[in-house]
Amino acid sequence: MKSIFIYLCFITNTFALFQTHCGENTFEHSQAYVIKERSITCEKIDYFQSIIKDISNFFEEPPFVRLFIGLKSSNASFDYGESINIPLQLVYANHYGSEYYPDSNLSEYILAHEYGHAIFTNLLKNNEFYREIYLVDKQVSKLEFKRKIEGSLEEDDQLRLADLTLKKRSFNKVRRLLNDYSEFFSDVVAVYYANDKEVMVDALYSFSMSDQQFSLAMARSFSEREIDIEDRLYTEEHASLVLVRQFVGKNFWPKTDDEKTNNLKLIFKSIEQEILLRLRQEEFRLNPKIMNERLIKRIENQNF
Ligand SMILES: [Zn+2]
Repeated sequence: MKSIFIYLCFITNTFALFQTHCGENTFEHSQAYVIKERSITCEKIDYFQSIIKDISNFFEEPPFVRLFIGLKSSNASFDYGESINIPLQLVYANHYGSEYYPDSNLSEYILAHEYGHAIFTNLLKNNEFYREIYLVDKQVSKLEFKRKIEGSLEEDDQLRLADLTLKKRSFNKVRRLLNDYSEFFSDVVAVYYANDKEVMVDALYSFSMSDQQFSLAMARSFSEREIDIEDRLYTEEHASLVLVRQFVGKNFWPKTDDEKTNNLKLIFKSIEQEILLRLRQEEFRLNPKIMNERLIKRIENQNF
């Protein structure tokens, strides 16, 4: 029994979060937490928070996020509520099972992409169809956070979390429809922030990645190049809006911060109209070729 108890303590401590206390700098739109206390420097934590601050300037009502900063992980994520998991170093496996490491100096652009998801969610919340999804996601996020910071949850919270998690699953069909757009919009946020059309490709690139992983990373480029949209690769949600990315890189590449703000507004508005139409017509699945053509047309039309 004692050994089980020690083991459980170990598990809890491994995942316990600690709020960071890094001195004078305050950040209005983010609060940082680290998985292991003192494992990450205040300089790095402040830097990550300053990225959120810089991006928040492009939006009228930027969302608040909690940053859970870890050392190494196989993914970065946003939980659709208020929490972003971001490692200093991404670690992927290729299909031979060996690990590879994208450049950790570019992790800030992965964070920019994740914050893009938070912005997308926040912009979408005024739509009737999304209101309940938004509220449930927020509550789940808050309860998961409470569990992480306190180590456990009281019984009523545990029950509430179980109920809400079940409810969350019922949104999967709509969520799948939104994902292609959310991935695209989040990449726009990252490349605009970086002033670099290739920044997502570079942030994901590693010499040891497989050919397929490389092609998927290349689909995140905002530069023009030949692709075959009928290729199955482009049914993947990060890659599907490859032609819209190229279109934005060519025709909506901002020169000033004001242009970034305006373009992001215009791109989101186009996405929102497209989503509402698809929901009305119950087009839960759409061929990537049509998905790209329709969104490009909308963005073009907004501009005139
Ligand atoms: Zn994403």
